Amino acid sequence: MRKKIVAANWKMNLTLEEGKNLVDAILTGLPAISENRQVVIAAPFVHLTQTVAQLEEYDHIHAGAQNCSGEASGAFTGEISATMLQSAGVKYVIVGHSERREYFSETDETLVKKIAQALDKDLQVIFCCGEPLEIRDAGRQNEYVEKQIQSALFELSAEQMKNIVVAYEPIWAIGTGRTASSQQAQDMHAHIRSVLTGKYGNELAENTSILYGGSCNAQNAQELFACPDVDGGLIGGASLKSDAFLAIINAMIHS
Ligand code: PEP
Repeated sequence: MRKKIVAANWKMNLTLEEGKNLVDAILTGLPAISENRQVVIAAPFVHLTQTVAQLEEYDHIHAGAQNCSGEASGAFTGEISATMLQSAGVKYVIVGHSERREYFSETDETLVKKIAQALDKDLQVIFCCGEPLEIRDAGRQNEYVEKQIQSALFELSAEQMKNIVVAYEPIWAIGTGRTASSQQAQDMHAHIRSVLTGKYGNELAENTSILYGGSCNAQNAQELFACPDVDGGLIGGASLKSDAFLAIINAMIHS
């Protein structure tokens, strides 16, 4: 049975002290989380050892990174390797976020290397895909997202795919306050699952968690997570306030 997951993406926000206080507040309000549900806090790199330490006693809430290098080690000033993340106790890493594709010129080839590094170090990869507005307006979102998935994931073995979580994040919905309707989310998630079925078979596709991201908040999470192919969310802005994030965690737990 696939996991339901809510992952916070703090992006480049919060001082160390603010991050500590936010995690403390989340832990204070955290409901009981059953076996097949998970919460992830994808904090900035400098927060990670602190976040890992705060979450140490908890079973179903883990620290994640927002990126990792596609190289194993060496003369790559400013980069953070998957080995370093693993050694810090990090369990998840986001790869292919649209902000990294756009502002840091990450290509499919870059993503393939990052995913390989992450999987080699036993990290769970949250792989982001999603179309820009002009592609949605042209009605070409299915083929666009399918191509992103094929390019970044289809060289992976079925065994490696078990450590991939897909996050569908339509770019026009990220940080804009414009959420995909639950029907739009469900349609794309079902499409992604069918693409995975075509390559890896029904069992693997059914066991892959597909998260929705893009202006998901305390008000709309319940409706989005009620869709049969939406297995939780990747949450940006609404993950920076404990009340909102806890409400989203509760929506995931009761979905
Ligand atoms: C994100 O950037 O992953 C995201 C979903 O952001 P927001 O929730 O703010 O739209």
